[in-house]
Amino acid sequence: SLELQGVRKDFGEFEVLKGMDLTFKKGEFIAIVGKSGCGKSTLLRLVAGLEKPTGGQILVNGKPLNGLNKSSRTMFQDGRLFPWKKILQNIGVGLKGDWKSNAMELLEQVGLADRANDWPSVLSGGQKQRVALARALVNQPDILLLDEPLGALDALTRIGMQRLIEELWRKRDFTALLVTHDVEEAVMLADRVILIEEGKVVMNKEINLPRPRKKDSIQYSSLAAQI
Ligand code: ATP
Ligand code: MG
Repeated sequence: SLELQGVRKDFGEFEVLKGMDLTFKKGEFIAIVGKSGCGKSTLLRLVAGLEKPTGGQILVNGKPLNGLNKSSRTMFQDGRLFPWKKILQNIGVGLKGDWKSNAMELLEQVGLADRANDWPSVLSGGQKQRVALARALVNQPDILLLDEPLGALDALTRIGMQRLIEELWRKRDFTALLVTHDVEEAVMLADRVILIEEGKVVMNKEINLPRPRKKDSIQYSSLAAQI
């Protein structure tokens, strides 16, 4: 589980997060929406342990977070692949031990198994994002932090990626925190949507729509692999 207790974040005089109390259950899919500048990325960076709260605390499985959150991985809008590493090496970057079999399984699941030895520069934007998704999942994080990962993609590619994220989430049992500008995407993918305004949670709502995720998913993976 992941818990925020009265979490505040200031940058000098500027108060970005003004006291957040949130509890995320293990395996939940949460979307975070709000206007540009409301503090969404700041919130994810705090959960990742890349920054420290000014006040309050973050509990990971009941323990106060101190330093990097090793149970989380982050995927960013621009993917951030290393151009000097081939696809498979990008996925395993920084890892030791036997990561390759899981990396290949993930490449399979994102429809890019045949591109393992390509350079990132020859991939399309959507393909790069799929590699970034595989990389974020390779060491089996408990928490996947997604900061607008689909923001730069065209509408069709975006749909394929939404399906893929949903499918991997269903298969791999991680807690997903998705920051998105797209309210429709939030409602479609998440169990719960959180709206932030001026550094506060102003809505925290469970979504009880029938989901495509409840159906068999094979059709989506073939769609995702084509786009
Ligand atoms: P967007 O939707 O545009 O990505 P956001 O909700 O992710 O916006 P944040 O990046 O969290 O917004 O930033 C929230 C506010 O905090 C902004 O006003 C930003 O300028 C400020 N801010 C973020 N990081 C820093 C920093 N390191 N130093 C100073 N101000 C910062
Ligand atoms: Mg942001």
